[in-house]
Amino acid sequence: MIEIKFRLRMNNKVVGYEKFAQYELSGKWMYATEADSQVWAEAPIEHNEKDLYTNLKDKKIKDIYAGDIVKFRSAYPVRFCKNCGEEYESFYEGYYCKECGKRLSEPKPIIGEVIYSVDLRDNKGYGEYCRFCIRDDKDIYSFDEISNIEDYLVIGNRFENPELVMSKWKS
Ligand SMILES: [Zn+2]
Repeated sequence: MIEIKFRLRMNNKVVGYEKFAQYELSGKWMYATEADSQVWAEAPIEHNEKDLYTNLKDKKIKDIYAGDIVKFRSAYPVRFCKNCGEEYESFYEGYYCKECGKRLSEPKPIIGEVIYSVDLRDNKGYGEYCRFCIRDDKDIYSFDEISNIEDYLVIGNRFENPELVMSKWKS
């Protein structure tokens, strides 16, 4: 079942979590200071911003929220030559650059920001079939097309770790 949960912020600081507790005929919003708390209370936690829970967890079983910065390996890794900059797609099986003969790098992990796809209506049409996407400076990816979800690691979020936000998406 989909869990309706938000991370709450006061300006950019995370102050708690809010989830919708469903009962047979009704439900109510409950609050806790930790995302995986065993005890949720009805008393609201004051906040002025919130980030939607993706219903996905990273490889340390940590919730992934919109605005998180995640690191993962692409299913289509690109190797590149540090010497001349030439890039090679995943189907290229050689270890050496065809241009200059130097050894190719190991594929770099991708670091990107989790976004809710409503923000993407004018961009590639992803919003029509996936709710959450990841963007880096080069592209926008859907979660499942690029990597196994168990490979994702949350390394921060754009609000508390602005230094991790890709330059193209600052502000
Ligand atoms: Zn080269």
